[in-house]
Amino acid sequence: MSNQWVYSFNELDRADKYVGGEWDDVKGLLGGKGANLAEMMRIGIPVPPGFTITTEACNAYLACGETFPEEMWQQVLLAIQELEKQSGKKFGDQKNPLLASCRSGAKFSMPGMMDTILNIGLNEETAAGLIALTGNERFVYDAYRRLVQMFGSVVMGIPDEVFEEKMSACRAGANVTSDPQLEASDLKQLTQEFKQIYRRYTADHFPADPYEQLKKAVEAVFKSWNGKRAVDYRNAAAIPHDLGTAVNIVTMVFGNFAEDSFTGVALTRNSTTGEKQLEGDYLKNAQGEDVVAGIRQTNDISQLNQEMPDIFAQFEQIANKLETHYQDMQDIEFTVERGKLWILQTRSGKRTAQAAVRIAVEMAKEELISRREAVLRITPEQVDFFLHPQFEREAKAAAKTKGGLLATGLNVSPGAAVGIVAFDADLAETWSKIENKKVIMVRPETKPDDVHGMLAAEGILTSRGGRTSHAALVARQFGKPAVVGVSALKIDVNKRHMTIDDDIIKEGDWISIDGTFGEVYRGRLATIVPDIMDAWLIKLLSWADTFRRLGVWCNADNPTDAERARTYGAEGIGLCRTEHMFFEPRRLPYLHKMIMTDLPIERREALDALLPFQREDFIGLFRAMNGLPVITRLIDPPLHEFLPNHMELTHDLTDLKIRLKHADTLEKVNTLLQQINEKTQVLKRVESLQESNPMLGLRGVRLGIQIPELTTMQVRAIFEAACTVAKEGVEVHPEIMIPLTSHVNELKVQRDILEVEAQKVMHEQGITIDYKFGTMIEIPRAALTAHQLAEHADFFSFGTNDLTQTTFGMSRDDAETGFLIRYLRSHILPENPFTAIDREGVGQLMAMAVEKARSVKPELECGICGEHAGDAGSIAFCHAIGLTYVSCSPYRVPVARLAAAHAALRDGKNSELKA
Ligand code: PEP
Ligand code: MG
Repeated sequence: MSNQWVYSFNELDRADKYVGGEWDDVKGLLGGKGANLAEMMRIGIPVPPGFTITTEACNAYLACGETFPEEMWQQVLLAIQELEKQSGKKFGDQKNPLLASCRSGAKFSMPGMMDTILNIGLNEETAAGLIALTGNERFVYDAYRRLVQMFGSVVMGIPDEVFEEKMSACRAGANVTSDPQLEASDLKQLTQEFKQIYRRYTADHFPADPYEQLKKAVEAVFKSWNGKRAVDYRNAAAIPHDLGTAVNIVTMVFGNFAEDSFTGVALTRNSTTGEKQLEGDYLKNAQGEDVVAGIRQTNDISQLNQEMPDIFAQFEQIANKLETHYQDMQDIEFTVERGKLWILQTRSGKRTAQAAVRIAVEMAKEELISRREAVLRITPEQVDFFLHPQFEREAKAAAKTKGGLLATGLNVSPGAAVGIVAFDADLAETWSKIENKKVIMVRPETKPDDVHGMLAAEGILTSRGGRTSHAALVARQFGKPAVVGVSALKIDVNKRHMTIDDDIIKEGDWISIDGTFGEVYRGRLATIVPDIMDAWLIKLLSWADTFRRLGVWCNADNPTDAERARTYGAEGIGLCRTEHMFFEPRRLPYLHKMIMTDLPIERREALDALLPFQREDFIGLFRAMNGLPVITRLIDPPLHEFLPNHMELTHDLTDLKIRLKHADTLEKVNTLLQQINEKTQVLKRVESLQESNPMLGLRGVRLGIQIPELTTMQVRAIFEAACTVAKEGVEVHPEIMIPLTSHVNELKVQRDILEVEAQKVMHEQGITIDYKFGTMIEIPRAALTAHQLAEHADFFSFGTNDLTQTTFGMSRDDAETGFLIRYLRSHILPENPFTAIDREGVGQLMAMAVEKARSVKPELECGICGEHAGDAGSIAFCHAIGLTYVSCSPYRVPVARLAAAHAALRDGKNSELKA
């Protein structure tokens, strides 16, 4: 037999065998939907009979100039015959017609991104036969008009609105407000009108032949893989473009058959909070698309328990079974046709970050999954989400008192978003991307065509739709705050405004939406970054800690940051940038004095004045980090950075000289002359210190060697602080770090100065403190000679900001706003090397340095404190080369804990794990 392009739902074993037994590959072949339908059939879930045309067929079709691969259609025809046997109905038969749906289904779920056509097989004859068979003319014409509508829009590209306008006119004519109130005669009339629309737009008749309908529907689904909205979605979700989509042909079951029929979508756990409880909507007398489209007001799934307790119990049991089988929260589509429950689809449910964490933790506690699996299921981005802004409580309270709370709706995706209103996706995208404006996209409901605008917006607001609506799903997946179903909102897209009671909000006006509480405010509310004290997250991260081998430290220059980092789980300070401490207004004059003078005595005086400030800083840090290591880096940047800007000085001097010319009293002349004199001195000093390449100039260790008194003062401050707090009973572990070393002799010189001063202070204080002396590795030469440096250092810390700069020979201050953008756009560089470690270059130097250094000192502590330490991919690399810890900003600490655990769990060397 040639290629098998078509698999019946009961041929899962064959598909399994063909791909080699991996479930992931089965999904690759049959698509997620097809694979799950077949799997559900295998485990005894009531699934309507059907078959799947493979993704391979789709790819072959697209590769061969949009023609079906050989034998594919014959296999489809055979599969239809099989369906006919299973259902006892016949495709195109006038007495007992088989109807089918044609639904796309790629390997990865792309909700609403591709196309579905229902009720294939209806024409005038089969419709008449079905009426005779069911005695339900209304149902048949409802199904028929849907077929013409879906076929017209999906296959032939007729704008949806044209059909919708006719629907509205029909409702108005019949004097009803909702579709189920329409009579059979209305729907029959609508079917004819839809056919006329079809003829007007396509210059052709709506195809009566069921096989032609099916063929064109399959082609449309294949083609939709390359449609704009699918491509946009894949780009945003990083789904490869060469996977193709499968097509599922499924026997129709009808939720629009009568009042005892309905259709719905439910999630096995709450997708916003993660709580273990069914969440979803259903609609009576409706077909699938009605629920997710958000056009009709849906019923909450809990109501089903009152309306049809038997069906509810059955559904609950199936939901449990599916969740246990797939070991994950499921998103289930179902239909009840005349009291019989059918499951049409199951897949992993989309969820918020909060829900994802709670579900992972609770499933591990329920022993559905292991702790290791729970940790692996959470992404670094989901942890990061906990650090997203929320509105300030007081700002919200004040807005509420002043009547700023406009309306409430469903809180479907948490977080606070502030922006100007844009009523369509294109405008939202233009305002955001081109004009750099913050935008809230507001729509009656969203459609797959709106995704580009939703991605560009800060948040999403809709007046219709439920928790499983398109807007809610997409917002949750991409972490956009969203409020949907705000029924008080009357949106007039044509007039470009919306009204809520008497309030009018025009396009371009500011609003704030709270996706956590489902609230809409007028104006701009202040936001804050929340504390991540979520109980489930704390639990999950505590499990992550048992798996990781890397330590997670933080970069902090003050006690507040240090304390915050500690509550987030930091195990030490990996970098305290001491120069940050000098920028305070009270301290800067002394630093100026120290820089300006040529007299040793004056320099000494200035440094003596700075000493108490530095000592206080370190006392605060040591107290905050009681029991944990604190790495203090001696001053690093070029001195002129602490002096006023050269341009400003010149400008000020010119100004003073002009004022001098016009001075009319001796007193004024004197004052101005004095000011001119002072400024001239400063300018001279700035000019003498100025360098053409300051980043490669007098900075780092070179500065310490040039002005040894500066090193002495900083060392004294550190040790006086350490001795003081140690006497209070605080456990101190100071580590002193030399920046920008390139030659071992630099280290030796600095170490000599440091040791003399440290001993002096400890002697004065009458107490001995254990400390470490180490260096940053920021220059390729340091990495190349790491074995020499290791002889004179107790620890290394990779300063990958500078190491990237010096390895690439690329200024870190200029590249990211200049040529680097072009390099990234044209893929000359695969990634921004200042964000993700360049493994081949910078990474190679790091790995080599660790190896060389540990050949001399096997236990040498080696960390990283560049910005890369907060990047998940770079953390995995740090794990791989055996670093001791990563040190990142306090807000990245939780993310780094998780990423470090992932790195350990994925490298297979779990014998080294702590638990
Ligand atoms: C580095 O270079 O990576 C580093 C941490 O030091 P700084 O960014 O202060 O130069
Ligand atoms: Mg540096």
